Amino acid sequence: VFTSAYFTMTEQEAIEYAKTRLNYFAPDAELDCREIGDGNLNYVFKLTDHKHNKSLIIKQAGPVARISDEFKLSTDRNRIEYEILDLQNKLAPGFVPKVFSYDPIMNCTAMEDLSDYTIMRTALMRHEKFPLFADHISTFLVNTLLLTSDVVMGHKEKKELVQKFTNPELCEISEDLVFTEPFYDCPRNEVFEGTREFAKREIWEDPKLQLETAKLKFEFMTHAQSLLHGDLHTGSIFVKEDSTKIIDPEFAFCGPAGYDVGNVIANLIFAYVNAKYTMADGEERQVQLEYLENTIEDIIDLFKKKFLRAWEEKATEQTARYDGFKEYYLDAVLRDTAAVTGLELCRRIIGLASVKDVTSIEEYSSRAAAEKICLAAGKMFIMDRESFKTGEDFVRILKDCE
Ligand code: ADP
Ligand code: MG
Ligand code: MG
Ligand code: MG
Repeated sequence: VFTSAYFTMTEQEAIEYAKTRLNYFAPDAELDCREIGDGNLNYVFKLTDHKHNKSLIIKQAGPVARISDEFKLSTDRNRIEYEILDLQNKLAPGFVPKVFSYDPIMNCTAMEDLSDYTIMRTALMRHEKFPLFADHISTFLVNTLLLTSDVVMGHKEKKELVQKFTNPELCEISEDLVFTEPFYDCPRNEVFEGTREFAKREIWEDPKLQLETAKLKFEFMTHAQSLLHGDLHTGSIFVKEDSTKIIDPEFAFCGPAGYDVGNVIANLIFAYVNAKYTMADGEERQVQLEYLENTIEDIIDLFKKKFLRAWEEKATEQTARYDGFKEYYLDAVLRDTAAVTGLELCRRIIGLASVKDVTSIEEYSSRAAAEKICLAAGKMFIMDRESFKTGEDFVRILKDCE
């Protein structure tokens, strides 16, 4: 049944699939299965063998997005996800789940079960702290981004990489939802009533901002700098005290390196406004806000430090050794990081895919205040993107927007 034509599996069929198509579980395994997907596009089956205490995840690409059947997507994105996880395991060992198999008929990937981790957005909404996260994510970012750039990769090999991961359908989603729809009164936007006036005045009626988003959209579409994860929000990050794992790279393609870094920063800002408007005034809230500020600052500063060190050690491109070039290049990545931080801040507030950190703020005026901070900061990140050079620059803006 699993070898001729694609269909979306039920939990029972996922058990059958594991028994007949994978040799992961023992023949006498006692399997139980639950579909635990919470994303928009796919089905995630968790299989557990209670007898031998073993488990496995099977992620299957569905034919339409759960969020809206307007998005019909090629199930080939599951191949991309498998191949990227495999590659990222080599570039940044220990930072992604191990993958065991990919099935091009059923469009599913079997991978390591990370149920002992928590999705970072969930943990941050519980106001937990992960002191090693900045160190972990900055290593992941430098390894996956710099090592897939033309600075380090052979240029022919790099062009093959670009070709292998063109990912036109998922790129189109980002082009529409991140770069286009949030910046005009698009019918598909989902704007909170308490934010509409501000969005209209500050975002939709600002032609200077719109011009900048057009420039950024074209850079996203045409600047094949590094192999991106492409969807690096805190819902794609699993955390526990001593370890960080990045999942869900189905949006991967070669684009501006700052795209991934900016997504991480913006999503920490959503956690920041969540803490600010849902925690009681007092010591604990202050500590949480400072933790998030320090994390943002450290990510940028560690990223810079590790980036320059890895460049020294790993650059193969002749001209990369010229005096001043790596600083020029890193400056541009930081500029793009600031811009994407701003785009992500705006698009999650105005656009179709919102984030729970903000939508779960129950009190009307608090939610409106939180959303205004995101939009005001977002606009500054985009308009003043040339001026963000240090971790401190990225944090200061939060104070300026309060
Ligand atoms: P989507 O592409 O649909 O967003 P994700 O890959 O983000 O799918 O997975 C959706 C959810 O499934 C995650 O938030 C997580 O709860 C669970 N999940 C995904 N991969 C794993 C894994 N390897 N181990 C444990 N849970 C996982
Ligand atoms: Mg996801
Ligand atoms: Mg909204
Ligand atoms: Mg996904």
